[in-house]
Amino acid sequence: MENKKKKDVRALTKEQLRAFFTAQGDQAFRGNQVYEWLWQKGAHSFDAMTNISKETRLLLDTNFVINHIKVDQMQRSKDGTIKNAVRLHDGLVVESVLIPTAKRTTACVSSQVGCSLDCRFCATARLKRMRNLNPDEIYDQVVAIDNESRLYFNRPLSNIVFMGMGEPLMNYNNVLKAIEKITSVEGLGMSPKRITVSTSGVPKMIKKMADQRVKFKLAVSLHSAIEETRTSIMPFNATFTLQDLREALEYWYRETKSRITYEYVVWKDVNDSQKDIDALVDFCRFAPSKVNLIEYNPIDDGEFQQAPTSVIDRYVECLEQNGITVTVRRSRGKDIDAACGQLANKS
Ligand code: SAH
Repeated sequence: MENKKKKDVRALTKEQLRAFFTAQGDQAFRGNQVYEWLWQKGAHSFDAMTNISKETRLLLDTNFVINHIKVDQMQRSKDGTIKNAVRLHDGLVVESVLIPTAKRTTACVSSQVGCSLDCRFCATARLKRMRNLNPDEIYDQVVAIDNESRLYFNRPLSNIVFMGMGEPLMNYNNVLKAIEKITSVEGLGMSPKRITVSTSGVPKMIKKMADQRVKFKLAVSLHSAIEETRTSIMPFNATFTLQDLREALEYWYRETKSRITYEYVVWKDVNDSQKDIDALVDFCRFAPSKVNLIEYNPIDDGEFQQAPTSVIDRYVECLEQNGITVTVRRSRGKDIDAACGQLANKS
């Protein structure tokens, strides 16, 4: 009960922490020490802050709590992929994934509990959105995976993709704050070039990102470059139309000169015709683009089926003929439901 009234100390900026101490008649510097314990050393209790006096720790304890995530369950796939079920301070659970390759370790993190959008092929969409994650809840997922990467693969985390549960641009401010922390020297000091934010396409927010000259990369889950087809599989496209998305992406490229990656799944009877391929090629023309053809991970009743390899090959051929970079991405961690679109808290 008491905890509910106390403020989460990690919601405070360094300046606010310094101000707290000066208001208590202590030195502002104490704020720096506490901040370092919270963000660099990952302290989960005030008692762990050993260079801070007992009285001060008590003072902190009567005013604040430290909310932090807890990795409830860790599953390992045959291919090395690790999935964490992450419990939040209020009991809700999100999932994050560690994807190891020969050279890299990538963290796939969640930005919301559930999702605000309604993509018909995605398991997370069926959960509906329950709440946004706070910046520290996003940051903590990254730290947990960085630790696992060091422990199991003897190397630090190298890349981060916001491709877990949720739509990052519907929780933009918190995602941005988390990225600031991840990239700052007081946090993990990672380069923003190693971070990719993946969106279903929220035009207004893409323009905002362009205006803010963000340094991380943008990926868009396109799946179709034909208005009606896209609406049939991603119903929110009726509101955030392909035309608006295209206009926002043109703006993004004009302002940032940063290449756009499109994620694209090819389904039987949905987007497997030459007309679909031509529309995608045309959509990719206005800015340097890369297309990631993702393998479909079946989520249930078989409403959606991956198109045969011959169709994927045709996509690759047509894109390459038009000078568009294309990769065919095999899914990882399928056996533990850790692949794209499968995150849905089955546990
Ligand atoms: N909301 C964001 C990020 C989460 S989804 C976005 O839409 O980009 C991460 C990627 O997985 C997206 O490209 C999404 O379209 C894709 N995806 C969702 N369900 C999938 C499934 N069942 N199989 C393969 N990819 C899927």
